[in-house]
Amino acid sequence: MWEKGCFDTDPELSAYDRIILRQVHSDIIHEIKSPLSNRREGDALMTAGKGLLLIIKTADCLPILLTDAANTMVAAAHCGWRGTARSLITKLVHRIKNDLSVPASSLTAVMGPCIGSDCYEVGPEVHQAFLNTGLSLHSFHPGPSAADKFLLDLKAANRHQMEEAGIPPSRIFSLGPCTHCEPAMISFRRDRAECGRMFSFIGLQKKRL
Ligand SMILES: [Zn+2]
Repeated sequence: MWEKGCFDTDPELSAYDRIILRQVHSDIIHEIKSPLSNRREGDALMTAGKGLLLIIKTADCLPILLTDAANTMVAAAHCGWRGTARSLITKLVHRIKNDLSVPASSLTAVMGPCIGSDCYEVGPEVHQAFLNTGLSLHSFHPGPSAADKFLLDLKAANRHQMEEAGIPPSRIFSLGPCTHCEPAMISFRRDRAECGRMFSFIGLQKKRL
């Protein structure tokens, strides 16, 4: 799921048209119906089209992949603190319901590897951004380094949003270690300038094998 450079060498993946956004920590969602000729700005993708590989790049932020029980659609989102404060995943679930006619109750979600709450200290502006948008603050805990710092649990915050949006809790999965703790993962907070990106992706097969 987080392999680098696998798209051209893997025969299964090379059969897909890749869809990659210019990610900007926004709440912009694109429904994709055919391959894109240029890179759009945004942080979430959804499609009912076959043969399109929706790709999210992360290095500490949380990637979330979604599909429905009948595999009629797929979606992917890039959820850092900014996207989470903007309720990106909530908005994506609503777009899926409105535009693809798939109710939240039939969705399955997988949260990929991201920075763990013990390693993700954030400043008061992050806490304030959640306050400003009326989001639950239960995923914040006191930070170790200063009184106005917090530890943020990105997975807990996004799980909460997905449950509120109607995805059954038993179908929200979390995988992967803390990207900051695990040397095999890419972590922007740990590696800074030399940092690459991990790819999380999902697509509907053109033909069932
Ligand atoms: Zn960690």
